[in-house]
Amino acid sequence: MTDTKLEKLPESLDPKNVPLGEAVLRHLVYSVGKDASHAVRRDWCAALSLAVRDRMVDGWMDTTRRIYKEKAKRVYYLSMEFMIGRLLEDAISNMGLTAEAKGFFSEHGLDLQEILEAEPDPALGNGGLGRLAACFLDSMATVGVAGMGYGIRYEHGIFRQSFQDGWQLEEPEDWLIFGNNWEFHRPEVSYPISFGGSVQQDAQGKMVWTPSERILAGAFDTPIAGWQGKHVNTLRLWSARSAETLNLHQFNQGEFMAASRQQVLAESITKVLYPGDHTAEGRELRLKQEVFFTSASLQDLLHRFLLDNKDLTALPKHVAIQLNDTHPAIAVPELVRLLVDEHDMEFVQSFEIARGCLNYTNHTLLPEALEKWPLELIERCLPRHLQIIREIDNLFAAEIRAKFEGKDPAPMQAIDPHHGGWVRMGNLAFIGAKRVNGVSALHTELMKQTVFKDLHEVYPDRILNQTNGITPRRWLKECNPGLAELITETIGEDWVGDLSHISELVPYAEDKAFRDKFKAVKLENKKRLAAYIQSEVGIKVDPTALFDIQIKRIHEYKRQLMNALETMALYNAMKADPKAGWQPRVKIFAGKAAPSYTLAKLIIKLINDAAKVINNDPDVDGLLKLVFLPNYNVSAAEILIPGADLSEQISTAGFEASGTGNMKFALNGALTVGTLDGANVEIKEHVGDDNIFIFGLEADEVAARQHGGCQPWVTVAETPRLQEVVTQISSGFYSNGDTERFKGIVDNVLAHDYFQVTPDFQAYWDIQRKIDGEFKDQDTWQRMAVLNTANMGWFSADRTIRGYANDIWKAL
Ligand SMILES: *Cc1c(COP(=O)(O)O)cnc(C)c1O
Repeated sequence: MTDTKLEKLPESLDPKNVPLGEAVLRHLVYSVGKDASHAVRRDWCAALSLAVRDRMVDGWMDTTRRIYKEKAKRVYYLSMEFMIGRLLEDAISNMGLTAEAKGFFSEHGLDLQEILEAEPDPALGNGGLGRLAACFLDSMATVGVAGMGYGIRYEHGIFRQSFQDGWQLEEPEDWLIFGNNWEFHRPEVSYPISFGGSVQQDAQGKMVWTPSERILAGAFDTPIAGWQGKHVNTLRLWSARSAETLNLHQFNQGEFMAASRQQVLAESITKVLYPGDHTAEGRELRLKQEVFFTSASLQDLLHRFLLDNKDLTALPKHVAIQLNDTHPAIAVPELVRLLVDEHDMEFVQSFEIARGCLNYTNHTLLPEALEKWPLELIERCLPRHLQIIREIDNLFAAEIRAKFEGKDPAPMQAIDPHHGGWVRMGNLAFIGAKRVNGVSALHTELMKQTVFKDLHEVYPDRILNQTNGITPRRWLKECNPGLAELITETIGEDWVGDLSHISELVPYAEDKAFRDKFKAVKLENKKRLAAYIQSEVGIKVDPTALFDIQIKRIHEYKRQLMNALETMALYNAMKADPKAGWQPRVKIFAGKAAPSYTLAKLIIKLINDAAKVINNDPDVDGLLKLVFLPNYNVSAAEILIPGADLSEQISTAGFEASGTGNMKFALNGALTVGTLDGANVEIKEHVGDDNIFIFGLEADEVAARQHGGCQPWVTVAETPRLQEVVTQISSGFYSNGDTERFKGIVDNVLAHDYFQVTPDFQAYWDIQRKIDGEFKDQDTWQRMAVLNTANMGWFSADRTIRGYANDIWKAL
């Protein structure tokens, strides 16, 4: 590859010189191998994806050449999840090809929208953390950061959720069975990842690790084009395969299973996202996944650095690495190991280099969600890493003793020797990072006061805040074309590339004609959502009712239960007096429960059972419907969010690190009912106190109650509507007389109620009734809705990425 003359291809080869329709037909015939009369939607989708991908490749290579030439600082974003959603619409929209594609297909009697929907949702993420990583890819490419995402190419990813008799069923997702038109397999890019074995000191005193198991990580690249396709970055996902080939001897002896054993074991590493962790094997697999993608990514970025640098001490000047939560925290000892063992550097210097490149984003304060691994497991799988972690701990302890006389470093160290011994990944990430960030102002403050209190005292400059954001391309322009067109015809198109321009809509909140158009768009979106609900679960809902939506992973702290209980209380009140002038409502839920989270799954069952009773009661027909949509993912979110009137962001204050669902809804003109938690606090500051519905305990009050031992059964007894609902549930009202089914929920609420459903219930009920009243005054409601959209400019992920680039990566 030395002939640079070939870098500039003949004009005739430039995909931009061929009309998109012709390119699609060409790919349909020559890449997909179908003729137009036999092609099904999936074939058209493949042909269009390939044609659009062709258009991205030039920009992709230009970007790569530019980065090399300018020696731009590279940013590597390591994440266990990338919930990227469908890519085709994003690509044609960012590349400015939507009109041309639409035109071509309608000429041939095909609907572009239906073709876009033939693309499967890549099942590479679970929740907000994974979606954040995906929004960041879009924004890094838009802002022009030389960024690269590193993650795992899960063959099945997260499970597909369905309901059987109201219970969650988990089935494997098969998003890859028809191939993936976006990725480029790089068989030549492959790195060994090792586990197990032992470490010996050689004659020179050097530690030599002899692993017992070796797996290969192979690269798959997806180009990610930013707005207007000027800058195209890469998402590189790793897939595992065995370093050993098929055992032909065993195979020829007819021992087919034994012959393939090594392959099966190796490939299990990238089969699924979040393997069950209730078995020791499951936990070990999870640890290996983390090591697998982290090590492959570090080896790859060091390889790239050494292509045009010799001096590894310059790494921090050219490279910034962001760890999305603790899943890749093994990067701290792994980077040190690569420098010491493979590149013959000194330990102390290697640690300084690692600490100059690595940065860690914390996503949770929930103690049980902070990762820790048994010392025994680390010792068995990663003996060399454990040595290095101990050395890092010693270095850290010396640093603390030198700086702070009398301060005990033990509680802050990575290794906790108690209870059999643990490696605390949050502490390890903190100690090994240059910067540690929280994801909303409140969360960052709480980090300093709680989980990282000690570490913050000794490194007061390390923690900083970067409030999350969302990409306005996917979360407004693409998911809500009606609103996007209305905004563009009102204030021009600049908002797409720079969301701060959306504030130019503020004066239009006072313009009745604009408000009416805004309302008409919402109604169309609600009709689209109503049709989706009908087709998914067969429930008919009235698009003029108030659409009240809570969609997110099912978790006690997110308090779907409180919403469900309020729904049941509302049902009781409506049934008792159906003619009292109620505001008709549709309560919509969606979200997956972790397979081993029994209580979350029981909450899903309760909502589905309540839906059966409520939706079939003629007394509340036209007043109340309750819907739980299965298999929440990015594509479902893109239909649900534009159709919402009310956004439920009701987590127990102090527990939602930021939330990004809250931002998507507000940007699309839904009003928020929420607690002062996560980014809700900042949303309130931006949209204004009068345009958001805040209720409930605040974070300090929650903390006081959680420590002070409260008596939820007393609170329930003092809250008649809640008392009635709890009694109904426990007496089998929603379970055909089965008084056992929901005992887990009832006991939890009455006896523990750690997440403060009972003390917040009345305030939640009251604010919901206030919302009923305000929704009836549609003109005022639409004014508030416009002000939400208009004031969400700051929540663009482009702003967040600029924040990371300036404050953490020094890369703009
Ligand atoms: C935005 C998003 C999330 C995160 O939602 P939160 O309400 O912030 O928890 C989860 N899943 C999907 C599919 C999303 O698009």
